[in-house]
Amino acid sequence: MENYEFWFVVGSQSLYGPEVLETVERRAREMAAELAQALPFPLVYKVTAKTNGEISALVREANYQERCAGIVAWCHTFSPSKMWINGLAGLQKPYCHLATQYNREIPNDEIDMDFMNLNQAAHGDREHGFLAARLRMPRKVIAGHWQDRSVRDRLGRWMRTAVGAAVSRGMKVMRFGDNMREVAVTEGDKVEAQIKLGWQVNTWAVGDLVREMDAVTEADTGALMAQYQSRYDMATDKLDHVRYQAREEIAIRRMLEREGCRAFTNTFQDLYGMEQLPGLATQSLMAQGYGYGGEGDWKAAAMTAVMKAMGEGGNGASGFMEDYTYHLAQGGEYSLGAHMLEVCPSLAQGRPRIETHPLGIGMNEKDPARLVFEGRAGDAVVASLIDMGGRLRLICQDIHCVKPILPMPNLPVARVMWRPEPSLTAGVECWITAGGAHHTVLSYDVDGEMLRDWARIMDIEFVHITRDTTVEGLERELFWNDLAWKLK
Ligand code: MN
Repeated sequence: MENYEFWFVVGSQSLYGPEVLETVERRAREMAAELAQALPFPLVYKVTAKTNGEISALVREANYQERCAGIVAWCHTFSPSKMWINGLAGLQKPYCHLATQYNREIPNDEIDMDFMNLNQAAHGDREHGFLAARLRMPRKVIAGHWQDRSVRDRLGRWMRTAVGAAVSRGMKVMRFGDNMREVAVTEGDKVEAQIKLGWQVNTWAVGDLVREMDAVTEADTGALMAQYQSRYDMATDKLDHVRYQAREEIAIRRMLEREGCRAFTNTFQDLYGMEQLPGLATQSLMAQGYGYGGEGDWKAAAMTAVMKAMGEGGNGASGFMEDYTYHLAQGGEYSLGAHMLEVCPSLAQGRPRIETHPLGIGMNEKDPARLVFEGRAGDAVVASLIDMGGRLRLICQDIHCVKPILPMPNLPVARVMWRPEPSLTAGVECWITAGGAHHTVLSYDVDGEMLRDWARIMDIEFVHITRDTTVEGLERELFWNDLAWKLK
């Protein structure tokens, strides 16, 4: 979706003379070019930094250029860090310190003092790390040889995370109607969210959407119906209901595009003038990368869009999810997630079916059409952003999705089944202790490390429930977090 790039900055100093500096630059160009082949975004060599002026100029340019999604820094030689202060103190882009070195091994015969002065990352990267620590900079540190696959994978995932930060800072959310009446967790401070995360969350009338729907032509609807038929199995005779969803999708997308919005919400309590809650329409929009949150949940909507953007190809396997019901068979305990209609087909195993069924909630004159499927097996996370009053908290839980253990032939919605870490019961205790919502974003593409990095960049609290988490340890962490965030 976006043409982002990252800038590679290599630290050195003039003390070593031109020959060393030429070698440093040549190697830095070689490394950037080779790394770029294995990374999801270009890594562009920018400068061998030797002066305060060079570094300050580079940071000014990075802040200014929208396409620059972050800086990757490394010190080939020693690079005295006081010359980095003025630049780094003003840096507004995500920052990664790649603690690597050009050569993999110490060459037994070749090594002498010249070799050591040239290949001095172990020394230079420590000086560099001190300064970032002193500046309290949000940063990612990745150590290891630059040709190692694990280093490249982690750098690539950090790049996706930094793009998630850029997408977040440009995020606009379109709300149709307000939150579901009386619900607490979907509320939040939109001003705080815009300050921290950049989100512009605003409302549009459902009547505007109905008017937009009235303007959709039969030809446009027919073209989208053909796409539905090519992507999904039509398992209903009520084609007029499906056509209605197509009309809803076209109208919503036109409004989103017109306003530059990447996410939207609606609520079954406010469908004035509409025959169906958008189901298939919303699912199809999510498949295209748009974020969605049900019952007016704008936090879940924007998080869905951000996490999709952080995934493979800028639209990964992430979707709006809701914890619905438990399977508490001893030794085989699972959580069943779904939503009334709106589960993203990027989570599907196999080809989704279009079905129509009555919806026993809200005002739906006609049975809404929706995609029905099973989620695929695999490691995943669920993430929930909540407003703690004075700050935002992002909660992430590692989960393992399974092929649903029951066919559930009468359940008319898409469903995903999983086992959370550290176990279903302890995982539920942790989630509830942390205040996590029933609405989440489920992702097969974004992991806990990425969400931790994202939260650090955005300067919000992060809580990760993993296989090692205990309720007791988590309570302690939350207690200290509460104090720390009040002081911050
Ligand atoms: Mn819901």
